[in-house]
Amino acid sequence: MTFEYTAEQRLLCDSVRKMLKEIATPEYIRATDREGRYPYEVYDGFVKLGLIAMAFPEAYGGLGGDLMDFVAVSEEIGKVSYDYLGGYGTSVFNGINLLHNGSEEQKRRFIPKLINGEIRMSIAMTEPGAGSDAGAMRTTAKRDGDHWVLNGQKVFSTGSGARDNVISLYAKTDNDVNYKKGISLFLIDNTTPGLELRKLDTLGRRSIGTYEIFLDNVRVPADRLVGEVNQGWKYMMSGLQLERMMTTAGYCGAAQSVVDLALKYATERVQFGQPIGDFQAIAHMLADMQTEVEAARMLMLKAAWEVSNKRDALKTLSMAKLFASETYIKAANNGMQIMGGYGYIMEYDMQRHFREARSTTIAAGTSQMQRNIIARQMGLKPR
Ligand SMILES: Cc1cc2nc3c(=O)[nH]c(=O)nc-3n(C[C@H](O)[C@H](O)[C@H](O)COP(=O)(O)OP(=O)(O)OC[C@H]3O[C@@H](n4cnc5c(N)ncnc54)[C@H](O)[C@@H]3O)c2cc1C
Repeated sequence: MTFEYTAEQRLLCDSVRKMLKEIATPEYIRATDREGRYPYEVYDGFVKLGLIAMAFPEAYGGLGGDLMDFVAVSEEIGKVSYDYLGGYGTSVFNGINLLHNGSEEQKRRFIPKLINGEIRMSIAMTEPGAGSDAGAMRTTAKRDGDHWVLNGQKVFSTGSGARDNVISLYAKTDNDVNYKKGISLFLIDNTTPGLELRKLDTLGRRSIGTYEIFLDNVRVPADRLVGEVNQGWKYMMSGLQLERMMTTAGYCGAAQSVVDLALKYATERVQFGQPIGDFQAIAHMLADMQTEVEAARMLMLKAAWEVSNKRDALKTLSMAKLFASETYIKAANNGMQIMGGYGYIMEYDMQRHFREARSTTIAAGTSQMQRNIIARQMGLKPR
């Protein structure tokens, strides 16, 4: 049993850290957040460092890394910006979903472009009337000769407005059967005529952004359907596991950064003639924060181990996602308390963590839905 990444993975994390330190300076992160500007320079850094390639087999131009490499990199990016991880992660997990479910022709056409940065990927499942209940989606795709014609509306599609984005979009292809047998997956360029994107004004995660998508008679060639028609639900479920693994690793990295920021502040800030970290009230808060982050990380690594070893990871991964997201929120809340008034002003990064953390118990499956999954795995029937 081991509780650490391999020497190669630690080296990989060192190079990710170095690259991010050079490009994603605190001023750069603050500016992209403030202006809602996509961090193209950082994304190029991911590409140049081979972090996209790492996730794919050599047969498609990749470097043949494994899930633990992806987890280690996600944790490292999360330390710098949970928002930026959204840009990296959506490209990788949607690409891997294509690798597992796409045709040979689709893999050869899209994966090398993803690896060399010519395209990015995002995912659009959620709709105004279909959030946790994703099967209730109403966007339709109808066959018309050698094309599909899509109509409807999606919401909260992270990063889909970035340049050269290909959206993995789920739509109903058969309304007469159970949703599990009537949804299909399409690859849609974000510049396709009939498609309109609107960036939502959000509390946090403002740089990668999340978008509303309107589809008005969007025509895509038949070869943009992934895998088999009406098999989309299965593809969605298999992709969600990887998404949750990535986000959970990111929460752990981000929560550790919160502890580091708060600890540094507590050792430097002097009140009543002593560093505030020497007040037991503050020291115990920090001790609890570090303990919880460490516990979240252990659960995350156990889930990663189960996924890597092809075990049934549903329960552990849901517990890890639940606990790590709630830990990030709690840490950012306490971190702000430790920093007093300075935690509340935009010049310091704690407020960004506070805002970004708040999305984590909602996106990629809410905390309530994770608890439902865990309870079901325990033999209960929550309604
Ligand atoms: C920042 C951000 C990024 C996102 N990125 C993407 C993306 O890239 N692609 C994408 O497709 N979607 C994305 N989402 C959407 C996200 O997956 C949904 O917001 C989430 O699934 C919840 O759906 P909803 O917001 O409609 O809330 P609802 O489903 O309406 O839920 C509202 C409340 O009711 C609770 N609830 C609902 N059903 C149950 C139940 N059965 N039992 C107990 N409680 C329940 C929920 O937990 C929640 O507290 C993103 C969301 C955010 C905030």
